[in-house]
Amino acid sequence: MNAIACQVVSIEALTPVVSKVLLAPSAPVHFSAGQYLQLCITATDKRPFSIASIPEQTLLELHIGTPEGDSWSSSAMHHLRQQHALAAPVQIEVGLGQAQWQTDSDRPVILLAGGTGFSYVYSIAMAIAAANQDKPVFLYWGVRTKEALYYQAELEQWAATNSKFRFIPVVQQATAAWSGRTGLVHEAVLEDFVSLDAYDIYMAGPFAMAGVAREAFAEQGGHREQMFADAFAYI
Ligand SMILES: Cc1cc2nc3c(=O)[nH]c(=O)nc-3n(C[C@H](O)[C@H](O)[C@H](O)COP(=O)(O)OP(=O)(O)OC[C@H]3O[C@@H](n4cnc5c(N)ncnc54)[C@H](O)[C@@H]3O)c2cc1C
Repeated sequence: MNAIACQVVSIEALTPVVSKVLLAPSAPVHFSAGQYLQLCITATDKRPFSIASIPEQTLLELHIGTPEGDSWSSSAMHHLRQQHALAAPVQIEVGLGQAQWQTDSDRPVILLAGGTGFSYVYSIAMAIAAANQDKPVFLYWGVRTKEALYYQAELEQWAATNSKFRFIPVVQQATAAWSGRTGLVHEAVLEDFVSLDAYDIYMAGPFAMAGVAREAFAEQGGHREQMFADAFAYI
């Protein structure tokens, strides 16, 4: 696969541990909503990141989490910051993954995100909206603390103006200040749907979440061939 040079347009803190990165490709890029890119730090050191934007947008948007002690994503962020400061390009490979949005499906959609897995489901939700597909979309976003819901206001606004779009944030370690859903995000889905038989389910987040969600959803009627996650290739 050919690498494409990109300028790092901006790096913005979404939370103390998640950064939004905008990249401007030097040539047209081809990908489907829900695919990921690889940041090529060297010819052999490549790190995958979900693309939060959709193909219709000019810039590529990434959401990169760098929790304490995570050298995997920290070194990717270090590379991006360094190149940004030097106004030098980064190299990416784009259009990777097998869990992209299934454009020809007319089934309703459940989007399940754990933490920065939100990037992946955000792209798919935007693509469905951009295609004017009039079908129910349920976006579940699980985070450890409510401060990690960095796009909450935008999603609530979206849900307020689109009767087919539901946004369900789920906070794992809730305080008294949180009045919404609590616990693990896949458990909220299990509570809300008697059967998952009818749904296409897209998921991204910690690999452990994808693993337990796939098994639990299958037990509740979900079809494995209608569940999509690039994490499945790693577990
Ligand atoms: C193809 C690919 C693309 C990737 N793209 C990105 C990217 O764009 N950005 C990025 O930062 N990283 C990315 N990664 C790395 C990895 O997916 C992230 O590190 C992961 O999503 C980080 O989650 P988090 O720490 O934000 O979630 P956490 O804060 O750990 O968890 C969030 C929620 O997930 C659920 N959860 C967590 N653990 C469990 C469990 N054991 N059982 C059940 N539920 C659980 C809970 O509801 C929890 O509140 C990617 C990896 C691959 C392979």
